[in-house]
Amino acid sequence: MSFNYLKKMPTPEEIKEMLPVPEKVQQLKLQRDKEVADIITGKDDRFLCIIGPCSADNEDAVCEYISKLSRVAEDIKDKVLVVPRIYTNKPRTTGSGYKGIASQPDPNEAPDMLAGLIAMRKMHIRAMTESELTAADEMLYPENWGYVDDLLSYVAIGARSVEDQHHRLTVSGFDVASGMKNPTSGDFSVMLNSVYAAQHPHHFTFSGYEVTTTGNPLAHTILRGAVSKHGNSTQNYHYEDLIRLHNMYEEMDLVNPACIIDANHSNSNKQFKEQIRIVKEVMHNRNHSDDIKKLVKGVMIESYLVEGCQPISENQTYGQSITDPCLGWEDTRHLLYTIAERN
Ligand code: PEP
Ligand code: MN
Repeated sequence: MSFNYLKKMPTPEEIKEMLPVPEKVQQLKLQRDKEVADIITGKDDRFLCIIGPCSADNEDAVCEYISKLSRVAEDIKDKVLVVPRIYTNKPRTTGSGYKGIASQPDPNEAPDMLAGLIAMRKMHIRAMTESELTAADEMLYPENWGYVDDLLSYVAIGARSVEDQHHRLTVSGFDVASGMKNPTSGDFSVMLNSVYAAQHPHHFTFSGYEVTTTGNPLAHTILRGAVSKHGNSTQNYHYEDLIRLHNMYEEMDLVNPACIIDANHSNSNKQFKEQIRIVKEVMHNRNHSDDIKKLVKGVMIESYLVEGCQPISENQTYGQSITDPCLGWEDTRHLLYTIAERN
């Protein structure tokens, strides 16, 4: 047999019993889910900032980052809703490399899925309890939804997963705002078809059950830039791109047209400091065009305590990314206040 079955993983019910979300925080999550939903549906005109490290690799550093974030979030809450990125599963272009805390609780050690599941829930629960902010994560493995459905206020489907039927159908059962990224090829119709699939009801098998879903009206788009056939990054946050997306939305039978601009990845070509200029350009275009203002509900920014990134090693810098390069804390703080001023 080619699979080696190492151990049976706990069910979602078992892991939730072991690591429950405190009752007070459960209420907070429901309230924040609604706030995010109200931004996506246009009931609330605050700007959404989904911000945090590329990968949440270390509980202490992530919680320290999010507690700093929560103080700024409180200052700007009339204009901006801050949702921390706590990304615990990382897609890898070739399948090799660090795959997130949920696979490798210690990046220097071999994968351990049970320890990873525990580390992932522990970090999310500590972050939400300490900061009173609830997070975004990427749903890289849709079957894991039951492990995180009581934690997340926002879900992203990554550029490498957005064409996959199982991801699309699973999102149709989520009751939180879910962003479908453009694929790495950059094709907007793939992304919009994915939103269409996620907004409609489906009937399929999920985690050993036959299920039906209601469709998720909060499914929307995320623009993250693309890679050309020659391997170069091409951007899709400019005025013309946003107008094109607005026009394509108008031609499709979709509710709640909404878009988040991911300022890093192929939009910055991983020149992480460019995120500052990119976000300012997005704010400018929103203020220039009402169509863009209505469409672009927020931004996604990669940011951590220390700017840049580093290779995984025995003596890593605390609070610096081990995956994509991130803005450092001071730049992040300034940028958040600038966003609040310009919304
Ligand atoms: C990310 O958000 O860190 C990420 C991997 O995004 P993408 O799917 O756009 O590459
Ligand atoms: Mn990243």
